[in-house]
Amino acid sequence: MTVRPMTSQAPESIVPTHWYNVLSDLTDVEDAARLRRARPQDQGTSQPANSRITPQIPLTMYRQSLSREPFIEIPEEVRRQYLRWRPTPLRRARNLELLLDTPARIYFKYEGTSPTGSHKLNTALAQAYYYKQAGVKELTTGTGAGQWGSALSLAARIHGLRCTVYMVRVSHEQKPYRRVMMEMNGARVVPSPSTGTSAGRTALERDPETGGSLSIANAEAFEHAAALEHCNLSVGSGENHVLLHQTVIGQEALRQLEAIDEFPDVVIGAVGAGSNFSGLAFPFFHEKIRTGRATRFVAVEPEACPKLTKGTYAWDYNDFTGVTPMTKMYTLGHTFVSPGIHAGGLRYHGAAPLLSAMYEQKLIEAVAHPQQAVFEAGLTFAEQEWITPAPESAHAIRAAIDEAVRAREEGRAKVILFNLSGHGLLDLSAYDHYLSGRMTDMAATDEQIRTSLDRLPPQDDGQPSGAAARSR
Ligand SMILES: *Cc1c(COP(=O)(O)O)cnc(C)c1O
Repeated sequence: MTVRPMTSQAPESIVPTHWYNVLSDLTDVEDAARLRRARPQDQGTSQPANSRITPQIPLTMYRQSLSREPFIEIPEEVRRQYLRWRPTPLRRARNLELLLDTPARIYFKYEGTSPTGSHKLNTALAQAYYYKQAGVKELTTGTGAGQWGSALSLAARIHGLRCTVYMVRVSHEQKPYRRVMMEMNGARVVPSPSTGTSAGRTALERDPETGGSLSIANAEAFEHAAALEHCNLSVGSGENHVLLHQTVIGQEALRQLEAIDEFPDVVIGAVGAGSNFSGLAFPFFHEKIRTGRATRFVAVEPEACPKLTKGTYAWDYNDFTGVTPMTKMYTLGHTFVSPGIHAGGLRYHGAAPLLSAMYEQKLIEAVAHPQQAVFEAGLTFAEQEWITPAPESAHAIRAAIDEAVRAREEGRAKVILFNLSGHGLLDLSAYDHYLSGRMTDMAATDEQIRTSLDRLPPQDDGQPSGAAARSR
C-alpha cells in the first residue's frame, strides 16, 4: 500500500508546461534577490557589477532570473525530457504515520526516482539546453559528493556538450561511484585541488595534504571556464534561475494533492543553498497568497551549517577565494568551512538570495538539526517506507517526524508535505558510520561562526562588516 502511487492522472497533465516565478509574488525584494554587487576591488572601476559572472549565463536564462512574469514557458524539448521520468511520485507515508501514532497525514514528493537519483537533473537539463542554444561547447562545474556533477554530466551528454567536473578530492577518493557515473556520461572528472589552475595550485601550496572543498572546486571551475572560449560555468543551486527550474516539483505536487483533495498545512525541505526546498515550496506559496491559506514553510538545515538560524543577512561572496560577485544572502561567511558531516550537499555557507529575502520577511521558517537525530530519522523512514533517503533528504524527514509528533501531542490532524530530494543508495557508507556508532554531531560552534562572520566583505551600507554580522 505504501509504495503505490497516489494518483492515476496522466503524466502529460501533471508535468507543468511552465515554471513558476516567485518574484512575481514578492515585493520589496528587488535589490536583495535580483541584483548582484561588484566585488569591493572592482567597485568604482568601469567593471559593471555583473560583468564577472554574467557572460557565463546565457541571456535567456539571465532574463528568466530577473523576470516578473508569473509563469515562464518550459522549452518543449526540455519538457519532453522531463517526461522521461516525471512526474515523480507523490506518496503518503502511512507506515510512518502508524509508527508515530499521529493524526497527521504525511506526504512526500520523491525526487530520488530521477535518472541520477536527485532533483538536480531538473535544472541540469534546462541549463544544458540554454547553454547549447547560446553556442557553448563545454560546461564545467564544481561538485562535492557528486550529485550535481552526475546530473550535469548526463544533461551535457544528452545535449552534446563536453563536461569537466572539479570534484572535491576527499569525495573523489572516498566516494568513487558518483565519479564513475560522471565518467559513464563522458565527463572529465578532475580531483580538486588540481595543479591545472592557479586556484588549485594556491590551495595545494597552502596545504599539500588538503582534501579540498566545494569553494575551491568552484574557484577552479570558474578559472577553467574563463580560460576557454566556448566553455561556461554552470551552477546547481542558489541562483534565481535554478530555483525557477525546480518549481516543476511543487507544481506537480500541487496537482497530485489536488486530485485527492488535500492541501498541506506545512511544507518541508532540506536546504543546501535552497533549490529543492524552493522548488517544492514556491508553488504552494503562490497558492497560499492566491487563496489565503495558512500554510507554513519550514527550511531544514544541519547544525553543522546553520546559515539561516545562526547566520546573518549580508552581502557576501559565493566562493572561498572571493572571485565571484557578491549577493545578498543569509550567510555564515564565505570563509566558513562546515564540519565534515555526511550530508555534503548541505555544507554550503549561504542560502539562495530569493530564499534569504523571504526568510528575512518571515515568509518562511527555519530549523537546524544535529547529524545523529537526522540519521535516526532517515533509518526510521527506511524501515517504515522501504526507501533509503539521501542524508540531505533525511533532514526534511527529521522535521516532518517532529511536526507529526507535535500533531499527536496537540491532538490535531494536519497535512505534512516534505521533499524527499534524493535516494541514499550511494551514501551507504554514511549509514554504516551511523550504525557502527562512530557518528558524532559536529555542530558549528558560535566561536567558529563569529570568526567567519568577522571576515565578511565591507557592506557599504553604512555598517562595518562586523556590525552587520549580528545574528538575528
Ligand atoms: C544537492 C542536494 C541537496 C541540497 O541542495 P539544494 O540546492 O538546497 O536542494 C539536497 N538533497 C539532495 C539529494 C541533493 O543532491
